[in-house]
Amino acid sequence: MIRKLLSLIARQRWLRKMAMSTPILRDMAWSFVAGESQEEGFDAVRTLNARGIAGTMNFIGTHVRDPQEAVRAADTAIKCLVRIQATGLNTHLSLKLTQIGLDIDQGLCRRELGRVLATASACGNFVRIDMEESAYTEETLRIFEEVHAQYPDSVGIVLQSYLKRNPADLERVMALGAGVRIVKGGYWESSVVAFRKKAEVDAAFLRDVENLILRGKSPAIATHDPVVMERAIALAETAGIDKTAFEFQVLYGVGEDLVESLLQRGLKVRSYVPYGTHWYEYVLGCVRRDPGRVFRSIRPGSASRMEEHRPVSAGTSERLP
Ligand SMILES: Cc1cc2nc3c(=O)[nH]c(=O)nc-3n(C[C@H](O)[C@H](O)[C@H](O)COP(=O)(O)OP(=O)(O)OC[C@H]3O[C@@H](n4cnc5c(N)ncnc54)[C@H](O)[C@@H]3O)c2cc1C
Repeated sequence: MIRKLLSLIARQRWLRKMAMSTPILRDMAWSFVAGESQEEGFDAVRTLNARGIAGTMNFIGTHVRDPQEAVRAADTAIKCLVRIQATGLNTHLSLKLTQIGLDIDQGLCRRELGRVLATASACGNFVRIDMEESAYTEETLRIFEEVHAQYPDSVGIVLQSYLKRNPADLERVMALGAGVRIVKGGYWESSVVAFRKKAEVDAAFLRDVENLILRGKSPAIATHDPVVMERAIALAETAGIDKTAFEFQVLYGVGEDLVESLLQRGLKVRSYVPYGTHWYEYVLGCVRRDPGRVFRSIRPGSASRMEEHRPVSAGTSERLP
């Protein structure tokens, strides 16, 4: 019911405008998104860095159909990398291939990714390729393999444990000596390609996390699941692996208590910081996946804290699909 209502709101511009004047939706947005501008993304990273948390900035956008928009998204990533170098902030980027043209033309996507990675390499920074729906897994991996051969230190990939193919993909990527962010998987997938039961997903995730901790290069374990975190930490301790050899990654605004306790124990934490005018897509994606969880995580007053810096205009959502 809530999902249907929000999808309807997303499709209707006048409803979006009206919805965005309601405090609950504004609090929802600014609990999980750093802001609309790159500057607000940087402000969020600066605050995280001051707490000892690294960032991975994501200019929100996916499934772009217009080639010019794909090129603009790559330009935005390039500007962001240059700016990160100038500011000295501790953050890298996360990027979706469908934002830079994968749905339009693989050649375009490869070209734009090449431009972004050339800049990342020149700036001594790193770009993590997010993993999207399973229909893109093979293409994404092939493109990743190509670019990793050219920029081994500047690009990493995400793998999803809920996919039944994932053990083979993990071996394939580890054989390259490439950095992996492992996640449970965030999309709706059929039971043909993915585990659907939570217990099965959790077991697959734990297996992959253990494999990566023992054999992976700079593993990034992206989760808010305290059980998995503890298992990873214990395994590393038992195997004599330094606790700074891997990192935990969380979504901006999620799992604050967990993050504090990891930091206090000297563990590395990185936060995924989404920003951009398409923030509605990101928030809606979170709500579609688990509305109850999102509503429980809203930080009341987030909107007014944002507006101290920049008011949310009624027209901000006009560019959304
Ligand atoms: C840094 C990062 C990057 C990611 N990148 C990708 C990607 O590229 N591709 C992809 O498919 N998926 C990605 N994901 C999403 C991931 O696949 C999971 O859907 C998501 O992390 C939830 O799973 P969990 O491991 O936290 O475990 P769960 O068992 O789902 O959750 C564990 C606990 O955390 C809480 N929690 C989890 N998520 C949220 C939330 N959004 N808001 C509030 N509470 C929450 C739960 O309520 C529960 O208490 C990423 C996640 C993170 C943290």
